[in-house]
Amino acid sequence: MFYKNLHIIPKVSANLLCKLLGQPSVSNLETQLHDKQVQIQQLEKQERALYRVISKIRASFELETIFRTTTKETCKLLRVERIAVYRFYENWGGEFVSDFEFAETGWDDVETLGKNTVWNDSYLQEHQGGRYRNHETLVASDVYAADLCQCHLEILEQFHIRAYATAPIFVGKKLWGVLAAYQHSQPHEWKKLEIQFLSQIATQLGFAVKQAEFLAQAKQKAAELYKANQQQDILFNLVAEIRESLNLDTLFKTTVREVRKALRTDRVSIFRFDPESNYTCGEFVAENVLPDYDSTIAIKVKDDCFGEKYAVAYHQGRIQVLSDVYQAGLKDCHIQLLEQLQIKAQIIAPLMKGKTLWGLLCVHQCHCSREWKTSEIQFIQQLAAQFNVALEHSELLEQSRSQANQLAQTNHALELANSQLEKLSKLDALTQIANRHCFEQFLEQEWNRLRLTENYLSLVLFDIDYFKDYNDSYGHLAGDECLIQVARAAQAVLKRPTDLLARYGGEEFIVILPNTNESGAIKVTKLIQKSIQELKIPHKKKNNFQYFVTVSLGVAIAIPTEKSSIQELINAADKALYKAKEQGRNRWVCAGKL
Ligand code: GH3
Ligand code: MG
Ligand code: MG
Repeated sequence: MFYKNLHIIPKVSANLLCKLLGQPSVSNLETQLHDKQVQIQQLEKQERALYRVISKIRASFELETIFRTTTKETCKLLRVERIAVYRFYENWGGEFVSDFEFAETGWDDVETLGKNTVWNDSYLQEHQGGRYRNHETLVASDVYAADLCQCHLEILEQFHIRAYATAPIFVGKKLWGVLAAYQHSQPHEWKKLEIQFLSQIATQLGFAVKQAEFLAQAKQKAAELYKANQQQDILFNLVAEIRESLNLDTLFKTTVREVRKALRTDRVSIFRFDPESNYTCGEFVAENVLPDYDSTIAIKVKDDCFGEKYAVAYHQGRIQVLSDVYQAGLKDCHIQLLEQLQIKAQIIAPLMKGKTLWGLLCVHQCHCSREWKTSEIQFIQQLAAQFNVALEHSELLEQSRSQANQLAQTNHALELANSQLEKLSKLDALTQIANRHCFEQFLEQEWNRLRLTENYLSLVLFDIDYFKDYNDSYGHLAGDECLIQVARAAQAVLKRPTDLLARYGGEEFIVILPNTNESGAIKVTKLIQKSIQELKIPHKKKNNFQYFVTVSLGVAIAIPTEKSSIQELINAADKALYKAKEQGRNRWVCAGKL
């Protein structure tokens, strides 16, 4: 029977049978299957799209790019009118840090959402992120049908938001912000999948932000390390310079320049206390300052509070670190002084010289307050400590310099006295030409020299004629004056630096002529005779032919040898002079070459 019935079955349509049996028809199943397949394909497609979005987000390590990519790609993926990233402040207010608008929405945007738009939601602020804290997504398909409170609705209207879906962004465990999808032109029925995607993208965004922040931190750490390293280098170089420095001025200049460079601050100065003032007065002796701020150089600072309040602390090696001069509880007088110097933040370190507080190393921040880093404070502390060496050095150096100066002065005076003494010992006091002693020394020296080179040495000995009479007639003082004039006239004849005129005796003079042969010597002799005649010093007539002072001259020439002697040469000149006297005076006689 059953089989019989079965027999009939092929005649009954499968669909009818299904209907009879209360089962879904095959075509229905096929449609469902097809729908499911389409859905799965769609899902796969969307999953792939989601994956693409996420990999794009994760491809960047830079926040700005991450936000831009996220909003743009999500907007395209969800096909909504706007995607924005909102970031909470510390006080749970916040602002939009990025947004992307998909299409021309058509409404007149009086006030539109955008980057840097601040949105302070009192509910979120009150509840520190509210339901987002519980990882909830908040959705409204139509804000007018969502039973929202009036104040919330007003904000949404302000930004023309008709429908929204928002998902929290967590960075680590911290609620960081919100990823928001907005529809402006009309309500939007949010599909479950869309919400899921939004939520997933928000999660991924959280990872990306964390990664970017981590990277930024690492970068900053590296930059800080680099800076600290640079500071160490500068410190090292400065310390080396301080230890070698012999010149405080140069050292100060280098220090202020390098410190300002190392700390990238507005002004670095060196302040010196007036040693007599008990730390109430002083001035800035070196500085390096940005052009925007006043120079402190040579500003006389008078601060009566300083001595009692700060000097002791600095003395103990403490340093003052002010991040904000207005928050430090300073006395008014102190604030006034800091304002006068345009200081908003500062580090002040003591500069000690031995056990005394010599001055201060001042690091000024003028354009704003500044949180000083520990490494920066240590840098200043270490540097300031090194100055003790330099300042002590400089004092020792100053002492030895002034001692050396004194010594040099004494030496100079001594040299002067010596040279005067030497001059005196060689000079004839009356005529200021070489004396007999000098003549003898020089003659010996030249004799020996010319003996080696086998060259001529001539002597001219001359004596004033009738000088005794001159003294008798004009007096001894006039005689002295006559001697001076005769010496001067004879001296003027001698042109070679090696020729030497000397006073040989009372009114006798002698000339040494090195490297001079007979004719040369006679030439000089004649010139001397002539130059004295030309003085025309009146002389009372001894005989009828004499009106003026004259001299008689004796010349002798030699080429010094082992066999000949100085004395022989002198004797020959003397003899020649005697002959000239004998022959009537006012003439010269040459003994010829020995
Ligand atoms: P003669 O022509 O022979 O050389 O005769 P004279 O008078 O020059 O000779 P004498 O040697 O007898 O005299 C030299 C005089 O020179 C003697 C002395 O009074 C004088 N006399 C020597 N030294 C100085 C001196 O320093 N100043 C002066 N005013 N006279 C001097
Ligand atoms: Mg004489
Ligand atoms: Mg004479």
